[in-house]
Amino acid sequence: MTATAFQKVAVVGAGTMGSGIAQVFAAAGSDVLLLDSAEEALARGVASIEKSLGRLVKKAKITAEDAERVRGRIRTGTALQDVSDERLVVEAIVEQREAKTAAFAALDEIASEATILTTNTSSISITEIAAATQRPDKVIGMHFMNPVPIMKLVEIVRGHETSDATTQAVVECAEALGKTPVEAHDYPGFVSNRLLMPMINEAVFCLMEGVATREGIDTVMKLGMAHPMGPLTLADLIGLDVCLDIMTVLQGGLGDDKYRPCPLLRRMVAAGRLGRKTGHGFYDYE
Ligand code: NAD
Repeated sequence: MTATAFQKVAVVGAGTMGSGIAQVFAAAGSDVLLLDSAEEALARGVASIEKSLGRLVKKAKITAEDAERVRGRIRTGTALQDVSDERLVVEAIVEQREAKTAAFAALDEIASEATILTTNTSSISITEIAAATQRPDKVIGMHFMNPVPIMKLVEIVRGHETSDATTQAVVECAEALGKTPVEAHDYPGFVSNRLLMPMINEAVFCLMEGVATREGIDTVMKLGMAHPMGPLTLADLIGLDVCLDIMTVLQGGLGDDKYRPCPLLRRMVAAGRLGRKTGHGFYDYE
């Protein structure tokens, strides 16, 4: 087992991010409890973990036995009640303030006093989420990037009351997962999404205004700016609903209309064209 500081970890939310987070903890040797309020989401989450492990086996990055061991360390469930035994909780549910604060209030009641509660939020205030608990010193942002098994960065976001001990434990944990932690303070969007989302939103404006085609916009950023993928392709990967939620938080939190979400982004979310996860976004997927 690698030296992960937390043997027992609960991941709440088994979507795009939660399933990846569960996989990297299990790969580092933790016993993981993956929870979601929706049974179908759990099934999809587990299927995506198995697919990801299968790809690693195919590329000879891990053996079939390793993959089986990692899979065997992940249990699933729908009851938050079960987190009572875990020492670290990573929350990865929908990017909505009310949902997060309600989940943290419930987790605070259930989890042991020593348990650190982390959130994978992309943009919501850690301080506000922490204020829903009686342990704001043990609440911190642990912002993984998508796809979690591949991306090295974890943005560690300190809330107003987060203690040094909590920060140190979570920084060490990220390192034990083979990630590179970067500390940031609690401002809307932190560093990553304060920079990334306005760029994606502006790409959607370019598309809406007919400045260029979707392929044209993506190619400009790939070949002109050396981005590994264009902003519209990236938006499809992230999820257009997540992008819209983050822009809304930036606009409200920073109080500046330069962060207003593009009307085309709103329209696509309303139409259920959320990107890869629904099979259709700016591009179509099998
Ligand atoms: P998602 O929509 O793919 O998954 C969210 C999951 O949470 C769903 O399966 C849903 O059933 C479940 N859920 C909702 N409310 C719940 C509750 N109260 N209790 C238990 N489960 C609940 O979303 P995602 O893309 O995985 O994003 C999750 C979080 O990670 C968000 O805060 C998002 O901002 C953040 N994030 C996303 C990305 C990305 O690229 N998608 C990157 C970094 C961070």
